[in-house]
Amino acid sequence: MGEPTAISDERREELRVRYRAERDKRLRGDGNNQYLEPTGRFAGITDDPYTERVERDSVHDDVTVAVIGAGFSGLVTGAALKKAGIDDVRLLDAAGDVGGVWYWNRYPGAMCDTAAMIYLPLLEETGTVPSAKYVPAHEIYAHAQSIATTFNLYDNALLSTSVNEVSWDEAAARWRITTDRGDDFTAKFLATGTGPLHRPKLPGIDGIDSFNGHAFHTSRWDYEYCGGGPADIPMDKLGDKRVAVIGTGATAVQCIPKVGRDAGELFVFQRTPSSIDIRNNHPIDPDWFGSLEPGWQREWLRNFTLLQTGGYADVDLVMDGWTDIAQRVRDRVAARVMAGAELSPETTLAAYEESDDEKMEEIRARVDAIVTDPATAEALKPWYRQLCKRPCFHDEYLQTYNRPNVTLVDTDGQGVDRIDATGVWANGQHYEVDCIVFASGFEVGTDLSRRSGFQILGRGGTSLEQHWANGMRTLHGTHVDGFPNLFVLATAQAANLISNVPHNYVEASDAIAAVVAHSERTGSSTVEPGRDDVNEWLTRIQARQGSVIGSPDCTPGYYNNEGKPLEGDQQLNGGAYIEGAVAYFEYLEQWWKSGEFAGLHFV
Ligand code: NDP
Repeated sequence: MGEPTAISDERREELRVRYRAERDKRLRGDGNNQYLEPTGRFAGITDDPYTERVERDSVHDDVTVAVIGAGFSGLVTGAALKKAGIDDVRLLDAAGDVGGVWYWNRYPGAMCDTAAMIYLPLLEETGTVPSAKYVPAHEIYAHAQSIATTFNLYDNALLSTSVNEVSWDEAAARWRITTDRGDDFTAKFLATGTGPLHRPKLPGIDGIDSFNGHAFHTSRWDYEYCGGGPADIPMDKLGDKRVAVIGTGATAVQCIPKVGRDAGELFVFQRTPSSIDIRNNHPIDPDWFGSLEPGWQREWLRNFTLLQTGGYADVDLVMDGWTDIAQRVRDRVAARVMAGAELSPETTLAAYEESDDEKMEEIRARVDAIVTDPATAEALKPWYRQLCKRPCFHDEYLQTYNRPNVTLVDTDGQGVDRIDATGVWANGQHYEVDCIVFASGFEVGTDLSRRSGFQILGRGGTSLEQHWANGMRTLHGTHVDGFPNLFVLATAQAANLISNVPHNYVEASDAIAAVVAHSERTGSSTVEPGRDDVNEWLTRIQARQGSVIGSPDCTPGYYNNEGKPLEGDQQLNGGAYIEGAVAYFEYLEQWWKSGEFAGLHFV
C-alpha cells in the first residue's frame, strides 16, 4: 500500500467541481444508443477470422446439460459438472475454440489486469503454471484450452456453431436448442454463459462507412494487414502506415504501446482518458509455485475478495491496485469509527471519497512525471473517481506519448466529429490515415437479444427478455422462475465481483453442479424457483446504482449505463448481495452443501 498524500479540503472541493463539469460535458441524450451495430462494410466484424468453418453433420440427440458459451463461465461450469459425475455435458460456441473473450481478443499487448494466480480458474486441477503475475492473452487462451482438455469438454462440444433459438418443451421437460448448423437437440438442463463483453460495438460517428482505407475492431485484430502476431511479434507491415486508434479504454491502453512502437505514425483519438496506475509485473518462480499447499487457490481467491471488498486479513496475498484502494478505504473507516463515528454507509462513503481523491491525485501526478509535453500530460489526466470506469494498470502506455511518431488528439469529451474517405475529423481538423482501429468496446447495456443473438423461450413461450422487461429477476443471479432447469452464468444479483470475474463462476459452478447432481440422483424432472422465492431474494440485493460505481457523479460509461440512471426494478440489474461478495460466497456454499437448496423446487 502506497503512502497516502494529504489533500486539503479546498482541493477536494475543487475536484468535486471539476469532476461534475467533466461529466456534464460527456452526458448525451442518446446514452447507449449512440453505438452502432456492425452493418454495411462492417457487417462481417463479428465473423471468426481465426478458425475455418468446416462442414459437419447436424446433431439430433439429447444431453443432460447444454452450456451455451465456452468462455471461462462455460468451462468452469462444465468442469464442475464433470467433477460431480455428470458426463453428458455439451459446450456450444460461435467461436472455433473455447476461451470466450480470450479467443476473440488477440490484439497486440492484450493481457489481464487481474493477477493470474486468481484470474485463471482451476490452476490446481490443470497443472498450469502462470509465467508472470499478470499474463498475456495467448497464455490465458492456452489455459482455457487446457481446462477443456483436462475435463474432456471438447468431446461432444459444438464449436463454430451459433444458437438460433432455445425453447422449453413442456411435454418433454427438456430445452430444445436449434443452431445455424441445422442442429436440433434437447437438453435436460441449460446453462447460458454468453457474457457481456463478446459482441463488438462501433462508435456512432458520422461517415464511418465512407472510409476508403483499412479498418477493423480490436477484438478481430488484422495481423494480415499489420504483420506480426499476438505473442508480441512486431507488426512489420505498419512501418509505413498512418494509423488512427479511436478509443482509450482498457483495450486501447494495452494495444497503443505496441502500435506506437510499430506504426509509421499513430494518432490516438481520445474522448475520456483512462486512469493508469502502476503495473509492476514480475515473473512467477515455478519452484515457489510448486511449493504451494493443495487448496491454495481457493484461499487466494477468498483472500483477494475479502481485501478487495473492505475486509481484514493477516496477509495480502495478491497485493495490487485492486486491494490497495480497498485497504485505504477500510483503514479510513476504522480510523473514523475509532474517533467516534458510527459505522454506517455514510462513514464508508466519506472514507471512500477521501481515499479515492488521494489515489486519483497520485494517478494524475504519475502522468506529469512520465509525459514530457505538458499539454499532452494535461489531456491524459482523468477527472473522475477511479471506479467510475475500468481502472487500468500499465507501465508503457503513458510513455508511448513521448514518442515522436505518436500524437494524442484529445477531443475534450466530445469524441470524433466524423470520418470521411481519407481519414478522421476531430476538433474541426482532418487527420489523413491509412488505417482506423476501433477500440470502441462491446455491447453491455443494450437489449439482451441484441447481445446474445438468440431468444430463450421459457414456459408458455415467454422470452427471457419479456420476463425481465421491468428488470432482471433471479434467485442467486442464476435461477429464473418460469424458466425451469436454466442456469444463468453471470455475476449480477449475486456476488457481482467485477475485479475478478472468474471467481464468481468458480463459486457458482459448485452450486450448479450440486443442483444437477441432486436432480439426477432424486429423479426430479424440473428444478425451478417460485416467484416468491425470487422476490424474497431480490430483497437481499442492493442496487449498484446506490453504490459508488453507480454514483450520478461518475463520468458516463458502461459501468453506469452511460450516465443514464436506471429506473424502478431495473436498478437491480447490476445489483449485488447486500452483505458483500465474501458473505455471498459463504452463503452460497452453505446453501448447496446443506443439500436443501432453499428457494428451489425439485419436481
Ligand atoms: P470500453 O467500452 O471500455 O472503451 C471504449 C472506448 O471508446 C472509450 O474510450 C470511449 O470513450 C471510446 N469511444 C466511444 N465512442 C467514441 C467516439 N465517438 N469518439 C471517440 N472515442 C469514442 O471498451 P474496451 O474494449 O476498452 O474495454 C471493455 C472492457 O473489457 C473493459 O472495461 C474491461 O472490463 C475489459 N478488458 C479487460 C482487460 C483486462 O485486463 N482484464 C483488458 C481489456 C479490456 P468514453 O470513455 O468517453 O466513452
